[in-house]
Amino acid sequence: MQWMDFYYAPAHILHDPQELQRPGTHSQNYYCEVAVRGLALRDALLASGLAARQAPLDFGLDPVLAVHDARMVQLLQAAYERFAAEAGAAGPVIPDTFSVQERPRRWPRTIYGQLGGYCFDRSSPIFAGTWQAVYGSVQTALSAAAAVQEGAAAAYALCRPPGHHAHADLYGGFCYLNNAAVAAHWLAQRAAACGRQQRVAIVDVDYHHGNGTQAIFYERADVFVCSIHADPYDEYPYYWGHADETGAGAGVGFNLNVPLPLGADEEMYFAALLPALEKVNQFQADRLVISLGLDTCLGDPTGTFRLQRDAFWRMGAALAALRLPTVVVQEGGYRLDTLGENIVAFFQGFLGE
Ligand SMILES: [Zn+2]
Repeated sequence: MQWMDFYYAPAHILHDPQELQRPGTHSQNYYCEVAVRGLALRDALLASGLAARQAPLDFGLDPVLAVHDARMVQLLQAAYERFAAEAGAAGPVIPDTFSVQERPRRWPRTIYGQLGGYCFDRSSPIFAGTWQAVYGSVQTALSAAAAVQEGAAAAYALCRPPGHHAHADLYGGFCYLNNAAVAAHWLAQRAAACGRQQRVAIVDVDYHHGNGTQAIFYERADVFVCSIHADPYDEYPYYWGHADETGAGAGVGFNLNVPLPLGADEEMYFAALLPALEKVNQFQADRLVISLGLDTCLGDPTGTFRLQRDAFWRMGAALAALRLPTVVVQEGGYRLDTLGENIVAFFQGFLGE
């Protein structure tokens, strides 16, 4: 049996939108990105014996600022306290007016106004402990990346909150900082054995398109981004994720989107995944980052796909067949009663159990 470390920051429980109702008529009227997700994933992995838990190291903010807009990071860090001071009330802080122009030319003075310039939806509330959770989450991804860089065949970052919807200068979709992108950029800055900088492939298997990851690397040729997800004509995040989004500038040809129809089953999923992985293989990466969303599972409250336990085993095995040193970063997955068995099945497949 192979064996792997997983990195876990207990501070994730400080960010728990459990009691919060989402406004409007959205079919999914509660925040399902809750703390118990992280506990379920952790407990299932510990019980499986496949992986040993490690505390993340602290890489500071430099690797985050290498990817994200400094002003957004500062705002996220200070939002809760600033809101309390300005409004004289406790959070959560959720902006409700969004800057839809390229970037506001003049900055409003209020925290609501400023946050709305860096936010694209109402699904990422900021609580008193949110920044601590966000910081721990991104350090978790960096720690797993460092473990792989130092020679581990694979490492898992149990990130909460998730990250793949966060752009360099936009947050939303339960995400604040893009954990996978920060880890991938950190790896891409390291030198390969031959002296040149490493090439990194990111495979995003979350049910939703990884719009933030796509945007961050869209003009780069050193990081290949591949995402298999529900068709944005029908599904969140709606404005990104079409097949003709293939990169720009130097990055043309280094972004691969494979949208699937709502309700896709295992057969349709693998008919899309396997050719996409062949493209990843052709990129000849030095390192692989997997954005692992388990919200492709049957009955996920945010999804419509119909993958079951065996499909996650098969997905893990298919990704392991790329034979690359791999950082697995947790993204979505909200069906609590199968989250544990599906993460274990994925790693059983990945580790060749
Ligand atoms: Zn998702």
